Amino acid sequence: MLTKTFRSYLIAGAAGIILLGACSQSGDQEVTFVPEPPVMQDTPPSGQLPDGVTPTAYRLSLFTDPAQDDFTGTVEIDITLTDPHARIWFHSLDQRISEASATLPDGTVLPATFTRSTAEGGVSRLDFETPVPAGTATLSIAYSAPYNFGLAGLYKATQNGRPYLATQMEPIDARRMVPSFDEPRFKTPWTLTVTAPAGNQVITNGALKAQTTLDDGNLQFEFATTRTIQSYLVALAVGPYDLRDGGVLPPNGIRPRAVPFRGFAPAGKGDQLEEAMAITDEMVTWQEAYFDYPYPYGKLDLIAVPDFAYGAMENAGAIIYRESALLISERTSLGRKRGIMTTHAHELGHQWFGNLVTPRWWNDIWLNEAFATWISYKTMDAVYPDTGFDLAPQRAAIGVMGADSLANARQIRNPITRNADILDAFDGITYRKGGGVLSMFENFLGEEAFRDGMRLHMRRFEDGVADVNDFMTSLADGAKTPGIVDSFNSFILQPGIPYLDVKFTCPSEETGLVTIAQSRYAPLGSEIDTAAQTWTIPFALKTDGSDGDNTVRQLIGEPSIDIPLENSCPAYIMPNADGAGYWRFTLNDTAWQGLIGHYDALSAGEQLSFADSATAGFAAGNLSAATLLDALAVNANGDWGAARDPLSNLSGYMEALETDAAKEALRDFVMTTYGPRWTALSEASPDELSQGEQLLKTALNSSLLALGRMPDERAQLAASAAAYVGVINDPDPDAV
Ligand SMILES: [Zn+2]
Repeated sequence: MLTKTFRSYLIAGAAGIILLGACSQSGDQEVTFVPEPPVMQDTPPSGQLPDGVTPTAYRLSLFTDPAQDDFTGTVEIDITLTDPHARIWFHSLDQRISEASATLPDGTVLPATFTRSTAEGGVSRLDFETPVPAGTATLSIAYSAPYNFGLAGLYKATQNGRPYLATQMEPIDARRMVPSFDEPRFKTPWTLTVTAPAGNQVITNGALKAQTTLDDGNLQFEFATTRTIQSYLVALAVGPYDLRDGGVLPPNGIRPRAVPFRGFAPAGKGDQLEEAMAITDEMVTWQEAYFDYPYPYGKLDLIAVPDFAYGAMENAGAIIYRESALLISERTSLGRKRGIMTTHAHELGHQWFGNLVTPRWWNDIWLNEAFATWISYKTMDAVYPDTGFDLAPQRAAIGVMGADSLANARQIRNPITRNADILDAFDGITYRKGGGVLSMFENFLGEEAFRDGMRLHMRRFEDGVADVNDFMTSLADGAKTPGIVDSFNSFILQPGIPYLDVKFTCPSEETGLVTIAQSRYAPLGSEIDTAAQTWTIPFALKTDGSDGDNTVRQLIGEPSIDIPLENSCPAYIMPNADGAGYWRFTLNDTAWQGLIGHYDALSAGEQLSFADSATAGFAAGNLSAATLLDALAVNANGDWGAARDPLSNLSGYMEALETDAAKEALRDFVMTTYGPRWTALSEASPDELSQGEQLLKTALNSSLLALGRMPDERAQLAASAAAYVGVINDPDPDAV
């Protein structure tokens, strides 16, 4: 609700000419100046700031010393105003404002009074006795503030007794470091000058331009002005960081200029930057080719900081990582290393999707994260081929289907009306389901058509903001497939998993008939109204025919539909070709048997979908235990990801069994089904195993120890664990 206070003010025209009164006469022609009241919104805005005042540039000067508890700053913010404003709303949190004013283009300085509102999120206001006229002006604010101790804004962390400063601004903590219009839609150049005591590295988004020693012995660092970025991408790190100079990312076919490249880690840990730095050029080069757009920023720094609230943050040109999400030592496990490299690819991908093109508001932050997740896997597959990352989006999406099967699951794109809603958007539904949905559309449209849509999107919105409708338009235009917009919306604007009830029959030897009815998936006992939702599904069906495998692709929006298969009665059908679809299926019994019998004809992605739909069908009461065990038995020898997927269900089955005899029978099944694979993997030398097989071996080891019959191995592990913690002798860190 807006309340405007109408008062008689000095009205200023757009050109800055001050006119007294409400009207003026010019010769015999009367010209009426409408007495436009200056904008004076009384109620603090919740959610977005009011329109009318737009920042166009920030010049920020900070004095920092990690040894102290406070810092001081002055900021100049160039703004444009659509109307005269006697009150300007902006963000400032935990700051002591000592001086505030607006300077007009003619040099006039209008003093301002600062008031913090009681609204959440540091919504604050500047009030001017003389309104700031429409046009341009520069706000100047001097302030001091404490370093945050909650890992938000400009915060302080200590390691080995040495203090470090780092920043985390996203989503709404830039306002803790600098008074600002702290919303993603405002993208501006930022120019930083930072003073710090000698002995500290100072890193921010811009490249270092000049360094001066001040009279008091402190060093002043002047940084280059950034390309336009939103406030949540501003970064600063100050402290005794180890520096590793990576030279430059050399020019390539897409980018004629070299990009200076460095790594930073807490003191003593610089060597652990080596692996991530070594792969960076290859990752950036691949992403540049994908987007057909050069890395957008003037330099690239990777900064591991002592304490960090998230995995990493994609600050433009100055990516900040939690130590354990960037540094690699000889003790880092394979799984951890894969996670580190994927995080790195994710943050690099954001330099385009998120930084160069930014969500207009937080309701589309899901798309930012879903896209970065998706492209991180594409990048990993490109730079580490044959390590299973081609199917990572599917594995991740299947991994979140448990949460998406709950009655209270949220939709991917949620309205954001309160600050408290923003962080809810950073969850598995955003990253995993969002990434899986993008992967599904890529599969449906084709890799090149999808990529063309992304390239178009980068060009259309470079240095700007875009919402999901802009994204879908770019995708539909680039891929030349307008029909996908409805389909896309049906996946992002409602929760849950489409459940396809597929009946397959052969009316004759030459023809098949597939009937598909859709509902929302629900496990037994759920309160979900399964009939209440439908999707427009980018469906893909694989069948075998006389001329080899065939794939039928079509958008299905109907609650039920017949797909006749002409010219053949296939031996099996797979209702999720390539396994890229974000849905589950159930089949009539003969169709399940046909699929189980032709398991080896399925691709690795299809095997993943097979395993998921079999366990999900059992949980929903649509698949008998006997058919489930048949499915698990063939799947145990499938692709490593598919073989691993159902293992997490086995302990649940064991718990649900009531008699010892039934539990013993399940133990027998586990040993007969998975024992031979585990033995083969254990006997192979690690060099012979792919990364995926090594991960499967670890997972099988846990499952068989817990649910199979491996008394010797359990005893040996128990002894190792006892030695590790030092039950009898001194702890032995090498025992496990
Ligand atoms: Zn991200």
